[in-house]
Amino acid sequence: MSSVAPFQEIFGDFVVVAIPTRTDFRGINIREAALFRGPCGWSEFSPFLEYDTSEAKTWLKAAVEGAYQEWPDLLRSEVKINATLPRVSPDRVPEILAKFPGCATIKIKIDDFEQDHYLVEAALEEVPDAMIRLDVNGGWSLQQALLNLHDYHLRFGKVFEYVEQPCLALEDLRDLKAEIPIKIAVDESIRKNLGSDMSILREVADVAIVKWAPSGGIAAARELIESIGLPAVVSSALDTGIGISHAAALAASLSGAEYACGLGTVSLLMDDVVVPPVVPMNGVISVGRVTPSSAQLHKYRASPERHSWWQNRITSIWNSGLSDEVKDLGWLN
Ligand SMILES: [Mg+2]
Repeated sequence: MSSVAPFQEIFGDFVVVAIPTRTDFRGINIREAALFRGPCGWSEFSPFLEYDTSEAKTWLKAAVEGAYQEWPDLLRSEVKINATLPRVSPDRVPEILAKFPGCATIKIKIDDFEQDHYLVEAALEEVPDAMIRLDVNGGWSLQQALLNLHDYHLRFGKVFEYVEQPCLALEDLRDLKAEIPIKIAVDESIRKNLGSDMSILREVADVAIVKWAPSGGIAAARELIESIGLPAVVSSALDTGIGISHAAALAASLSGAEYACGLGTVSLLMDDVVVPPVVPMNGVISVGRVTPSSAQLHKYRASPERHSWWQNRITSIWNSGLSDEVKDLGWLN
């Protein structure tokens, strides 16, 4: 067996960038990402700062795959994109949706009907024929979900493509699914149930939200989608254009129903490391390997302190078993 490329060879020249965000998304105003390259191209490691070693390890696995493995066969050269609308004041909706030209599907982060139906109104004012996705991040009890979705349905009728993770508990989702005329998508439920029988999700939901990095890369995400057996919506976690390129390749490799992907999120950053930025045009982004511009890497380079912080993070994850795992997969041979 050939030897594993040494740590230094993989991560020796990684760059950490810090890019301001346009809105407060998950409480984040600066997005940090570690970028590095391998024989197959550039890749990205950017788990959120609060994630511990075991959660971030999956992201690093995806990042290494991205740099050291070829993409699978792609069935499309571009993927449809949904607009992503964070919980902003309704007067900011036109400005944000303008960053997603041609996107006919709009995903809206909401807490409840009372406060947030204005966001749906404002979105439909901008894009009258839009399909709307509501994302609750598991924030409702069954009772709250029934009441809120009843109100949304009464007020807006058939505009909803699905509601994403209205409740966290699988029993609540199952009960809800029997009661409401809106499809249900699972997101948090997938990560919470990893390692158990994923086919149970077919009983509680209609759509699976799958992400490139949290799944551990393209091969792992494809296996995950297969094991769930639901149509998949490929989505991102506020990556730079590098991470988005890998997620778009995942989406383009999937056969079956083609849902708009949540991969327009570079539009929520003030800028990208890739020029031109990997943002939707005419409702799609094109799929292909991308390279960061050296000027952009220079412009957004993080402080030496932040670089050290990421260096320590990568080192401890690598030494926590990922190096062996990657060796067993034969990725570095
Ligand atoms: Mg979600």
